[in-house]
Amino acid sequence: MTKPQSWEARAEEFSLYGFTDMPSVHERGTVVVTHGEGPYIFDTNGKRYLDANSGLWNMVAGFDHAGMAEAAKAQYDRLPGYHAFFGRMSDQTVMLSEKLVEVSPYDRGRVFYTNSGSEANDTMVKILWFLHGSEGNPQKRKILTRWNAYHGVTAVSASMTGKPYNEVFGLPLPGFIHLTCPHYWRFGKDGETEEEFVARLAQELDDTIQREGADTIAGFFAEPVMGAGGVIPPAKGYFQAVIPVLKKHGIPVISDEVICGFGRTGNTWGCQTYGFTPDAIISSKNLTAGYFPMGAIILGPELADRVEAAVEKIEEFPHGFTASGHPVGCAIALKAIDVVMNEGLAENVKRLAPRFEAGMKRLAENPNIGEYRGVGFMWALEAVKDKATKEPFPASLSVSERIANSCTDHGLICRPLGQSIVLCPPFIMTEAQMDEMFEKLEEALKKVFAEVA
Ligand SMILES: *Cc1c(COP(=O)(O)O)cnc(C)c1O
Repeated sequence: MTKPQSWEARAEEFSLYGFTDMPSVHERGTVVVTHGEGPYIFDTNGKRYLDANSGLWNMVAGFDHAGMAEAAKAQYDRLPGYHAFFGRMSDQTVMLSEKLVEVSPYDRGRVFYTNSGSEANDTMVKILWFLHGSEGNPQKRKILTRWNAYHGVTAVSASMTGKPYNEVFGLPLPGFIHLTCPHYWRFGKDGETEEEFVARLAQELDDTIQREGADTIAGFFAEPVMGAGGVIPPAKGYFQAVIPVLKKHGIPVISDEVICGFGRTGNTWGCQTYGFTPDAIISSKNLTAGYFPMGAIILGPELADRVEAAVEKIEEFPHGFTASGHPVGCAIALKAIDVVMNEGLAENVKRLAPRFEAGMKRLAENPNIGEYRGVGFMWALEAVKDKATKEPFPASLSVSERIANSCTDHGLICRPLGQSIVLCPPFIMTEAQMDEMFEKLEEALKKVFAEVA
């Protein structure tokens, strides 16, 4: 076997790329990353990029936090691995569960660990199926989510995700129902007020539950702000309208806080930002500040009690991953929570969010930006051909892809999502770095819109 020479060629020859626009890779080559400093990453050519996407939303403490690495090393020295089966678990796991309940909106609860956000959602579905079955409702299995939702990529979590790309896998599985995306700017009808839009979505939910039968629906999952759907904050009053409908029908509400959790929206949890209390919380990504793959399910008191009763009945919960509650992951998560909540990171998000919004608002004055939207440290700009009619550019022009590529050329990483550009920088971002982000993005917008307009 003769190996190709460059890093780019070696990457392309031996790796199967996930969620990657391959024509862009063939044309531009892969950015092969070697190390990081604060919010910056460096590639094999020594080029520096401001990563305004925090890796994949998760590297909230930046790429070289000394305390995080120390916590990992110390735990690798003490106990480098263990499971959480058969009545054994590490001390770090015990401490993390305590901590997660302490920082949750609940006064008590129970925590279960996975290796990813997808597995956490997948596991939550199994918990609901297990619970309803145990309570004599084995037919209570359908799952409600929304179009544009992102809940992961395993067969079940991909079925919950509301994206057309899953059709190539023959997904969603039967019994996964997608409701209207609560994005007023895009899905509000002509002449419909935001209030009327929200009322229509609540009615759609009620109609769907009546049609399917409340006794066939296991749960409702929602991201407080849709992340991978293109940073979509809910229409005003959305959760206040839909949650009473779900409560009325006895359907558990699960908040997928994989992105929103631990300060991204300016509060510890996205559900706090939007004023609702779910029955359970899904966490991952920020949970370890991206320093370890880990997901967690935090069950609120009512679900915790019901699940405990179900477990008592058959004397075990027959589920778990080899690395569930990994001691190094738990030690890192404990440190990450401390860093985010006590070292000023969450505060920095709160402090700079108005400045972030002001920058987005200014960029949105561009005649080819239809909407700016977001909260805290997660924002998006949506490109349009015509601002008045909201007509998008033809998909064949790949406008958002071109904007992101132009940013990459100039040392800024941001993400194209549909017709939008997403910015979700690490929580450590300074004012000067924020200015750098806006300057580079503005140049890219000017250049690409001049080409396509
Ligand atoms: C990323 C994400 C997931 C999936 O997490 P993985 O760790 O990639 O499996 C689930 N839900 C939301 C809201 C996410 O953003």
